Amino acid sequence: MNIALIAHDEKKELMIQFCIAYCGILSRNNLCATGTTGKIVSEATGLQVSGFLSGSQGGDQQIAARIACNEIDMLLFFRDPLSPKPNEPNDMNLLRLCDMHNIPVATNIATAEVLIHGLERGDLDWRNILK
Ligand code: PGA
Repeated sequence: MNIALIAHDEKKELMIQFCIAYCGILSRNNLCATGTTGKIVSEATGLQVSGFLSGSQGGDQQIAARIACNEIDMLLFFRDPLSPKPNEPNDMNLLRLCDMHNIPVATNIATAEVLIHGLERGDLDWRNILK
């Protein structure tokens, strides 16, 4: 499965902890991420992560384009609800595209854990059938 990771600055540490905790499952999938998120996750875990541009440079839109082409099977997007971002409309577009293509998406760690356990259990195997 192709899993995309994005974490706002205030959530990057949480993303690292999440990826350390689920390193085993994540390592059996293809990971991609916005620039900084990918770099810190790969440094902290040794996981191979394809890095796009940084979010502020359009990396989130690169991921959005792949979601639009139905090439992403799961989006883990740890958002910071407290500080509004200048590229907030892009965030909304990402979520909209996930809804359009029925892509499982988590915007916080609690949902991310449910999704990752579901992935391991085979709950998302329908994505392979779809392809
Ligand atoms: P980053 O982008 O991983 O390059 O920091 C994420 C974001 O949009 O904050």
